[in-house]
Amino acid sequence: MKKLSELVFNNTYSALPSSFGAFIQPQPLDNPFLVSVNPQVSEMLDLDPAQANTQYFVDLFTGNDNHPAMSPLAMKYTGHQFGQYNPDLGDGRGLLMGEVQASTGQKWDIHLKGSGLTPYSRQGDGRAVLRSSIREYLASAAMAGLGIKTTHALAVLSSNTPVYRETVERGATLIRVAESHLRFGHFEYFFYSQQHGELRILADYLIKHHFPDIDLQQDDADRYNQMFKKIVNLTAEMIAGWQSVGFAHGVMNTDNMSVLGLTFDYGPYGFLDDYQPGFICNHSDYSGRYAFNQQPTVALWNLSALGYAITPLLAKEQIDHALEQYQPILQKAYSANMRAKLGLKEKLKEDTPLFSAMFDMLKTQGIDYTLFFRTLSSIPHCELNTSGHLFEDLSQDIGPLKSWLSLYSERLEKEALADSDRLDLMRSTNPKFILRNYLAQQAIEHAEKGDFTMIEQLMAVLQSPFDEHPELSHFAERPPEWGKKLEISCSS
Ligand code: AMP
Ligand code: MG
Repeated sequence: MKKLSELVFNNTYSALPSSFGAFIQPQPLDNPFLVSVNPQVSEMLDLDPAQANTQYFVDLFTGNDNHPAMSPLAMKYTGHQFGQYNPDLGDGRGLLMGEVQASTGQKWDIHLKGSGLTPYSRQGDGRAVLRSSIREYLASAAMAGLGIKTTHALAVLSSNTPVYRETVERGATLIRVAESHLRFGHFEYFFYSQQHGELRILADYLIKHHFPDIDLQQDDADRYNQMFKKIVNLTAEMIAGWQSVGFAHGVMNTDNMSVLGLTFDYGPYGFLDDYQPGFICNHSDYSGRYAFNQQPTVALWNLSALGYAITPLLAKEQIDHALEQYQPILQKAYSANMRAKLGLKEKLKEDTPLFSAMFDMLKTQGIDYTLFFRTLSSIPHCELNTSGHLFEDLSQDIGPLKSWLSLYSERLEKEALADSDRLDLMRSTNPKFILRNYLAQQAIEHAEKGDFTMIEQLMAVLQSPFDEHPELSHFAERPPEWGKKLEISCSS
C-alpha cells in the first residue's frame, strides 16, 4: 500500500486535444476535514487507507494543496436533459484530477466533485454540499455491495465554507473513483458542435483504454459497431440490475449516462420501499419521465441519442441493429436476476403468470420490495403454505400473499434444485439491507452535527448487504410511515 505522494499516475485524458476540456486548479475550501473514507476503494488504488488521516490528503482533496503528478481538468460534455439538448454542460463543479495506475493493471480516474468554478459552471457556484456528497458516497458503496456496476467514492470531506442552497450548508467534496468518466454526452458534444474528427478520437480513445478486446486496426465500421454494441450491452445489464434491486436513478439525462454502464452521478436517487412501479424519486420530475418503471425505456432513448451522435462514424443500419439488441439483452438479464430472486433454476411456462401474480400482489398490497424477497429467502419449501404470518408486518391483508405463496410452493415442486441450495441462492441474491432514503437522511442529519457514526454503520451493512449483521438489524426494518414520505431536496 502506498502513500498518496507515491501513487503512480498515467494521465491519458489530459493528453487529448484541448477541445476535450480545460485545465483548472481546484479552489480551496476553508478548514477542511475528513468525514469518511472507504478503505475498499482506497485499496483498489493501492493507497493505504490510513493516508486519509493525513493533512496532505485533506488538503489535496479540498483544493488546499496539489500533487505533482495530477493535472486537474474539467471535462467538456453536453447532453439531453429531460429530453432537451443542452450545449452548455461539462464538469461545472468537478475535476478529473488524474488517472491512477494500480498494480492490478486497472487505471482509475480520480475525480474531485465540489472543487469550485470551471468554465462550465454556468450560474452555479462550483460547489457540492455535505448532504449530497454523503448521499453519493453511501449510494456508491450500496450499489457496489449489490453487485451493480457503479462509480466508487473514496472519501467525503467537509469544511467551514458556507454554500447556499435552500439554506446555508457546508461545502464538501466527494472523491469519485471510476474506470472512466466518459458519458454519452461526451459524444453528443463533438457531434453537435460538428467536431467530427474529435468524435473519432474520442471513440478510439474509449476503445483503446476500455474495450481492449476490440481491434483498433479494424475498419471503422467494424470497430465502431463493436464499440456501440458494447455500450448497448453494458447499459442493458446495468438497467436490469437497477430494476431487480428496486433502484431509481432519478436524473437519467444523457450527461449522467456512463459509456461503461456504470451507475453514474447520484442525485435524487431512491430505492423502492413499498413496491410502487411508478415511483418518482426526483421531486422536480413533474411528468415522471424518470419514474422507476420508465428506466428501461429511457435508457433506450438515451442509447438512441448516443447512436445519433455517432452517425458520422457508423452507418444508420448498424446503429439500428445494435439498438434492436437492447430489449432482448435487458429482458434476458432481468429475467435471470428475478429468477434467482425466487430461487428458480428451471425455466417453465407457468413462470410468467407466477411473476405477474407476484408483481400484482406486491403492488396492490403495497408490500416492501426488499423485505418481501428477504423474508421469502428463509422459508423452507415445506413451510411455505403455513408461513403467511411471517409477512404480517408487510401487509395489512395477508390473504393475497398466502394465495401467491401456495402458487410458489406448487411451482417449487417442479424444481430439481435442492431446497437448501435454493435458500442459499436466494439469500445471496436478495439483500437484507438497502440504502433506504430515511436512513441516508438520518446519517446526514447526524453528520451535519459532526457525528459520523451512522455513516460508518451504514457503510458496514451496505458493503455486504447479503450478510446478517445482527447488531445492525434495525437498518433492515421496514421504514416508519414518515420515512417513506420524506421529500429529499434535489439541490446538490
Ligand atoms: P447534475 O444535475 O449534477 O448532473 O449536473 C448537471 C450540470 O450542471 C453539469 O454540467 C454540472 O457540472 C452542473 N452543475 C451542477 N451543480 C453545479 C454547481 N453547483 N455549480 C456549477 N455547476 C453545477
Ligand atoms: Mg451530472
